[in-house]
Amino acid sequence: MQAHVFETGREFLLRLPTGSDLVTSLTDFAKHHGVQAGWINYLGAISHASLRYYNQDEQRYEDFEIAQHLEVLAGIGNISLLDGEPFIHTHMALADRDGKAIGGHVNSGTIVFAIEVRVEEILGDPPERLFDEITGLSLWGGVP
Ligand code: ZN
Repeated sequence: MQAHVFETGREFLLRLPTGSDLVTSLTDFAKHHGVQAGWINYLGAISHASLRYYNQDEQRYEDFEIAQHLEVLAGIGNISLLDGEPFIHTHMALADRDGKAIGGHVNSGTIVFAIEVRVEEILGDPPERLFDEITGLSLWGGVP
């Protein structure tokens, strides 16, 4: 198996604004700072979750909402290019007040209560998302 070797660039710590859309805030951050490739970790709390599950048999997303306050146990994501623009792909594990966990692919519409983020920039040619016939998803091209 081959792997691409990258150099790491800048490291960022940031807090997302309360009431903001999580995916939009991360996208705005990447565009503002010119981060075309990177890895993201975050934790905190959200006031509303908008998530999706990919139905692999039917190759389509199933969207769902959780209209309650939730802890973000672990948020993870990456930054790469889609149509030449920085694109955020992120998933999160959440917990309710009883500690029960749920999670998924994060959609626009997930609202920040308090989120602390670490972004590690990756230098070099950024991965570009291309449509993949087998999965029906836009996946990294040129990355083994
Ligand atoms: Zn996803």
